[in-house]
Amino acid sequence: MTNRKVCIVGVGKIAHDQHVPAIADSPDWELAATVSRAGSVEGVPVFRDFDVMLAERDDIEVVSLCLPPQPRFQYARKALKAGRHLMLEKPPGQTLAEVEHLKMLAAEAGVSIFATWHSRMGKGVAGAKAWLEGQEVTGGRITWKEDVRHWHPGQEWVFSPGGMGVFDPGINALSILTEILPKPVHVTEATLDYPEGRDAPIAATLRFTRGITMELDWLQTGPQTWDIEIETTKGSVKLGSGGNELWIDGAQQPVSEIEEYPALYARMAGLIDEGRSDVDLMPMTHVADAMTLGRRVTVAPFAF
Ligand code: NAP
Repeated sequence: MTNRKVCIVGVGKIAHDQHVPAIADSPDWELAATVSRAGSVEGVPVFRDFDVMLAERDDIEVVSLCLPPQPRFQYARKALKAGRHLMLEKPPGQTLAEVEHLKMLAAEAGVSIFATWHSRMGKGVAGAKAWLEGQEVTGGRITWKEDVRHWHPGQEWVFSPGGMGVFDPGINALSILTEILPKPVHVTEATLDYPEGRDAPIAATLRFTRGITMELDWLQTGPQTWDIEIETTKGSVKLGSGGNELWIDGAQQPVSEIEEYPALYARMAGLIDEGRSDVDLMPMTHVADAMTLGRRVTVAPFAF
């Protein structure tokens, strides 16, 4: 297997929590540089300017963008124009059109682009998808409730335009839903709670076709809930812990042992080897539809 050199851009929470350890633990990848305005990873060369990294490090064939969605497009465009394969954290951009543009640039440059959805690599997701294949879905519930202050400490960008608010975690559930359902669904109704003075919602309820509902709340302290339950004419499947636990008809099932981020880097290596890209915008389409259809309610102000 080739030892692939990757540069992480944006050394923040997700880079430190997941990308750096996943790369370090893989014999197939080498963290050859980072680009960061102020941070660094011990023992890894750091560039303060992305253009300088691209100019000086021809040997780095993959760029992994770990930035928030708002600044991501300009970095992605430069990486593709410089002929680098590209990995995007979720959500892959601020808007659908931005990501369509990046897909086109990758095709023009003849490189791979991977819009990652880490929750699709949850350990129970493949099992749920296999069990649901060919079944008739009759209903379902998504419950995604977590504490924004714990998972996004002080990250004002999540409530800025393009930050998606509670859909930043909620899109993880949508990435699983769109992966496991045997037939597509669409949003028919939504209610979005916007804290007074904020540009993105802190809670939401959605209704989809096929009787599927979704409840998102970003103010849950204590136990965190990331559950998806789907009913069919044959029985029911439940994913817990964000896709990492699986029950079928109430009985817990064995799941994969591979963690989400190592699985993402393995997939990226495979895409490059095969000369392919993977950009699925359905999770983002559902968020855009919820924003279009949603009834907006103003709720109490929020401060970190
Ligand atoms: P973060 O820590 O707030 O930001 C990541 C890094 O991006 C920052 O440390 C900074 O890196 C760089 N950055 C921030 N604003 C920038 C700007 N305007 N221009 C250029 N660089 C900027 O965010 P995060 O939690 O890591 O999230 C990043 C992405 O990962 C998001 O899309 C998020 O949805 C996704 N994600 C997050 C989590 C989580 O638990 N937080 C989980 C899964 C996925 P430097 O200081 O190094 O320049």
